[in-house]
Amino acid sequence: MTVDRSTVWPYQDGEPGAFVYSRDAHPTGVEAERQLAALEGAPEGQALLFASGSAAVTALLLALLEPGQTVALAAGGYYGTGVIMSELGRWGLRHVEFDQTGPPPPGADLVWLEAPSNPFLSMPDVESAAAHPGTVVVDSTVATPVHLRPLEHGADFVLHSGTKYLAGHSDALVGAIVSRDAGAHERLLRFRQRTGPTCAPDVAWLLLRGLKTLRVRVERQTATARILAERLAAHPAVETVRYPGIGGLMSFDVRGDARRVESATRLIVNETSLGGTTTTIESRRRWEGERVPESLLRLSVGLEDPENLWADLEQALS
Ligand code: PLP
Repeated sequence: MTVDRSTVWPYQDGEPGAFVYSRDAHPTGVEAERQLAALEGAPEGQALLFASGSAAVTALLLALLEPGQTVALAAGGYYGTGVIMSELGRWGLRHVEFDQTGPPPPGADLVWLEAPSNPFLSMPDVESAAAHPGTVVVDSTVATPVHLRPLEHGADFVLHSGTKYLAGHSDALVGAIVSRDAGAHERLLRFRQRTGPTCAPDVAWLLLRGLKTLRVRVERQTATARILAERLAAHPAVETVRYPGIGGLMSFDVRGDARRVESATRLIVNETSLGGTTTTIESRRRWEGERVPESLLRLSVGLEDPENLWADLEQALS
């Protein structure tokens, strides 16, 4: 598919056609949304792209909740999601953290899970959250539909930072929300159209290109991550490895100085973010402060040769 960069499309015989103004919808975005809905097992077309994962988080909270309502948020999940909820505290949103491996606290209006949590890598109990009366959102950025389709386990919404595995090449900032319910999808669409946190056509095209290789990339990243997690767990300089067995993301605690290890890698790049083709390592302490131990390093496994990656980790740990 070629990118249609138009922001406007002519009326036909005085009537608006399928596309009118690109803040509402554009062909490249609609095609990416169609494919993403199918990947997540949602009803036809019930996915929406946003300008970033964080824009998707903000839109979902603002469009679906009222001041005074409470979110039960998975502890140990993406730091920025909690920051957004704190920010919206000024507008009356409350949030409480809970252990997502068990049932959510009663009384929450919305349950926010992360599969698996970044950077603590716990897997949510989606079924138990689905038995809770609140709306269930699963941020499935790290699992991707290759490993988990949360709607099939009772979730109401799936959220992605498509910036990570879905687009997959560290060159596109994009978010997405996939909805089970047609009415909720419409509500989010109207909210996005009115408030404007949409995704540009070129970015939607990069997402489409990324989706073509999603399965092979994620399967390869998972296979390599399994090898590295096993070897790290047996390494004398490593204390704990957190890896749920799926996906390309893990974190581990080193016995020495984590900041020295992250700076000592050569093939593995010391930078933030995850889900790209290049393996990256980072101490999350620098961004998240005391909630992350000084010893923790987050590793996002890319597509390099597993033996080369292991050789690099070994020399950095020594
Ligand atoms: N959700 C998770 C699990 C993430 O890791 C991130 C970003 O790191 C986000 C959401 C936010 O996405 P974005 O950076 O595309 O705004």
